[in-house]
Amino acid sequence: MQRIRAKSTSWEIYSGLCARAPLVVRADGRGFKKVLEESIKPYDIDFARSMASAVERFFLDFGPTPALAFTFSDEISLVFLDAPFAGRVEKIDSLVAGFLSAALSLELRRLVSMDCRTIPLCKEEICSYLVERQNETWRNHVFSYGFYMLREEGLNEAQAMEKLRGLREREIHELVFQKGINLAKTPAWERRGVMVYRNVGHVAVDWDIPLFSTKEGNAILAEIIGSARTG
Ligand SMILES: [Mg+2]
Repeated sequence: MQRIRAKSTSWEIYSGLCARAPLVVRADGRGFKKVLEESIKPYDIDFARSMASAVERFFLDFGPTPALAFTFSDEISLVFLDAPFAGRVEKIDSLVAGFLSAALSLELRRLVSMDCRTIPLCKEEICSYLVERQNETWRNHVFSYGFYMLREEGLNEAQAMEKLRGLREREIHELVFQKGINLAKTPAWERRGVMVYRNVGHVAVDWDIPLFSTKEGNAILAEIIGSARTG
């Protein structure tokens, strides 16, 4: 999957590290807890819109275009079917993190930074990867609401974290439900994340995506990945 190009004369010992496509580049916000601390709600639609806009900008202005992107919370996964920068990992990680950090800083009107990692996959693994990130989206959703409710009850951050660690998912579900929120009925983007992709010449941002693990979700992914290949 990966190879090291020998560069005996160079001090840049990682510059020859390459990854083969398909690959996912996943960016994650650094210290975003602080960025979001002004927001008291478990979800902030303005922040989510800024994340989606930064991804949209990526499709429009970065250059190498991913087939699709998936974002939730402070993370972004970009699925590339062709390796950008000939698969050079240092180039990919630094330029993608640099672009997304800049785009998001402009959106938020404050300086933020994102880190990045390159994940080589087989084409057959793309769907499983996205299912995994969407499962994480759901866990994050349950946890965020649970945390918010406990903070509302007067627990401090450490106490709320401690209590949540001892609870099962359905117990957090119940706790939140008692406060009048049904976690199965929150906005789809909170539960399932947001997808960005190219659609007939423009960039589409979908805030109401199905579960990637369902037949419908699978079919949508197959269509986007299939048309990105031929387009
Ligand atoms: Mg983070």
